[in-house]
Amino acid sequence: MENCIFCKIIAGEIPSAKVYEDEEIVVFKDIEPKAKIHLLCVPKEHFAYLSEADDKRAALLGRTLKKIGELKNKFGLSEGYRLVVNQGENAGQTVHHLHIHILGGETLEWE
Ligand code: AMP
Ligand code: ZN
Repeated sequence: MENCIFCKIIAGEIPSAKVYEDEEIVVFKDIEPKAKIHLLCVPKEHFAYLSEADDKRAALLGRTLKKIGELKNKFGLSEGYRLVVNQGENAGQTVHHLHIHILGGETLEWE
């Protein structure tokens, strides 16, 4: 996708601090961390919203969540972590390529 910053990161056109990559996802550090550890897990296929998920994408997202669970210790998140998926304007989504925020490395506030 043209002008998509995450597609450019996936293509290696702009740098990122990658911590994991396989054939269908990439995980890199968020440039403006909102927790001690703040990673972004990004499926390589470009789509912006869960509402665009067909069965194939749903299966991809399932595998993606499973992979995060498998990698939690490698990411330094053995004590727990939070996943966030911002969707649309009210959620403040700024990058319109679906991504999962992975937050942890400390106790996270939850009101
Ligand atoms: P969202 O608001 O859910 O769309 O989140 C987008 C996230 O991408 C924000 O937390 C940004 O800090 C992060 N971000 C934007 N550009 C980059 C980049 N070049 N490398 C790493 N993270 C980025
Ligand atoms: Zn994209």
